[in-house]
Amino acid sequence: LPHLESLDRDELRALQERKLGNQLARIRSTNPFYRDHWAQSGVSSEAVQSLDAIRELPFVTKDHLLADQTANPPYGARLGIDERDVHEITMTSGTSGKEKEVHAHSLADTFLRGELTAIGFAWAGLGSGDIGVAHVGANNAASLWTMVRGIRTTGRMPYLTGHASADERLDLMQRFGVNVMFAMPSGLTALATRCEELDIRPEHAFPNLWSIMTSGESWPVEWVERMEQFWGARIHEVYGSTQTNAAYGAACCEFGAVRNGQRAHNHLFEWTTYYEVIDPVTLEPTEPGERGELVLTHLDKEASPLVRFRTGDLVRWYPAGTCPCGRWLRSLETGTVGRVDDMLKIRGQNIWTSSVDAAVLAHPEVDELQVRVSVNDMGRERIEMRVGLRSGIVSDPSPFLTGVAAELKELTDLWIDVVAVDPLQLPHYDSPDLKPRRWTDDRHAGLQTAAGGLTR
Ligand SMILES: [Zn+2]
Repeated sequence: LPHLESLDRDELRALQERKLGNQLARIRSTNPFYRDHWAQSGVSSEAVQSLDAIRELPFVTKDHLLADQTANPPYGARLGIDERDVHEITMTSGTSGKEKEVHAHSLADTFLRGELTAIGFAWAGLGSGDIGVAHVGANNAASLWTMVRGIRTTGRMPYLTGHASADERLDLMQRFGVNVMFAMPSGLTALATRCEELDIRPEHAFPNLWSIMTSGESWPVEWVERMEQFWGARIHEVYGSTQTNAAYGAACCEFGAVRNGQRAHNHLFEWTTYYEVIDPVTLEPTEPGERGELVLTHLDKEASPLVRFRTGDLVRWYPAGTCPCGRWLRSLETGTVGRVDDMLKIRGQNIWTSSVDAAVLAHPEVDELQVRVSVNDMGRERIEMRVGLRSGIVSDPSPFLTGVAAELKELTDLWIDVVAVDPLQLPHYDSPDLKPRRWTDDRHAGLQTAAGGLTR
């Protein structure tokens, strides 16, 4: 969309403010959830005439959305359109049906989903006549319909792979071809491993694969470099969720996810969503280059609109103009999106569990891992990492595990006991819609036991 991608900051801001005014007026007249939410905090949305003034409005959290849909099933009072105009639904991932947010989409919203996702595919090089493949499951999460529409908008012929085994996927890709594909980092790594086991060489099997898009897990730069070398394709990243219009909310430009050995930029689609980045503790805006929680406001979405929704995603953001591609869009650093609840404080140190996982999983020898944080009888905190090693790569695990522990000490300033276990003992996260849960924190129970054992 060159006319939107080439806006300067003043033009973009004028567009955002005009859309915000229209969106708030529509929500006031159609949306009881926001009328109540804003009335409870004593603010008038009529007073919000600029982007800066949006900070007067209260945040919305996942808990608000879940309480609303429980009280007003199935969509919540925040639906904002006639129920007969709901064209599609998406749900967030969760461990039980109760914990899944429901987001409805009007017909116009579904076209918006396709358009935004198509931009990500287009920037990754998918053009008319090209084949796009998305390794995502068929379920009510945002991925499937979004990617099918995104591929069709800019390229052609998405075929379903998410239901299939790695072998079947590789077979389909060899028979029908692939130019650009999407897979989550762990799924892509698993696919590469299977290629090696079957002696499938991407340069022969997939000669026209030039880009791979990925999302949903953080990674070290070396992982991207290794994958680019293995597949002979450039790695791109996208950022998106059910809450970003159930589409991509940001994507890498033509430069990809790593440029000259450095993390690159996911450009935010600011013309359709207004993004803020706040300190999750003080709730104040963060400075460029700092990590903070991403907060979003839909400027176009008709059904289930979100206004100042706290995503729980921790990002590092950069101002417009940081990327040499020339787009005047703010951006997120690639490969480092984490979750606010990913952070653990251990022995006074903040640990980002996803960055620890990414560092360990970057070793091709490692198949999976689980970590348990506990407190022993003496009240001392212990971190134990159980690592499943791929068979036949490491002949003597002991020096390898010591090396991993030393690397983690460097990264976290904490000692982590790293032990090898049979990989079959560990949970695996091959499904693209399954969010890995590799850490358990048993310190509360341990503290109670330790405290109960005290003799005085
Ligand atoms: Zn760029």
